[in-house]
Amino acid sequence: MKIIMLGAPGAGKGTQAQMIADKYGIPHVSTGDIFRENVKNGTELGMEAKKYMDRGALVPDELTVKILLDRVAQDDCKNGYVLDGFPRTIPQAEVLDKAIRELGDQIDYAINVDVPDENIIRRMSGRRACLACGATFHLEHVPPKKEGICDRCGKELVLRDDDKEETVKNRLLVYHEQTQPLIDFYTAQNILKTVDGTVDMKDVFTAITNILG
Ligand code: AMP
Repeated sequence: MKIIMLGAPGAGKGTQAQMIADKYGIPHVSTGDIFRENVKNGTELGMEAKKYMDRGALVPDELTVKILLDRVAQDDCKNGYVLDGFPRTIPQAEVLDKAIRELGDQIDYAINVDVPDENIIRRMSGRRACLACGATFHLEHVPPKKEGICDRCGKELVLRDDDKEETVKNRLLVYHEQTQPLIDFYTAQNILKTVDGTVDMKDVFTAITNILG
């Protein structure tokens, strides 16, 4: 099964993608995670990507498409995958479409996790991350045991640059301009399914599994 997750940054599609991956035994492929891993390891790709990520902009298609196609060509993706954060532009979707069709295959579902902008801004400003070990918390939903301190490694928690309100607003702008057109793109292919992303994450997941079967 090949699945694409669509939705604004902060809509919870990463959480849902991981739950889908666990239930259906397919890899969760997140371009954001691949970029963050590269930033952490100080690779050339990471240093280039960081320039865009820190201001909420998209990493250029040439870089992004290559890492994604390399990733889905790996052995563990043979029986399917769930893509989280890719494609984010029409050109990315077209390249992916072409690559999959060349293999005589197709995407089965594009799941759109729908959350209004106001909810997203509220959610993201409450996020806290540990830059040392990568753990994430949320002041309302997943508070750390001790304020400002990582439960896992004891280091200080911060509001990541890309979760700051100005950056979030910019990411939403970029989403509406560049990523939202994908909703029409996958509607035209008859594979788009929209779920309400404002309800409890367990209920969002139930709605998704009802679609995937
Ligand atoms: P995410 O964790 O998916 O929100 O991604 C974090 C950041 O990585 C984004 O704000 C972009 O700067 C970059 N990024 C991730 N996926 C893509 C993509 N498909 N195209 C361009 N940039 C991306």
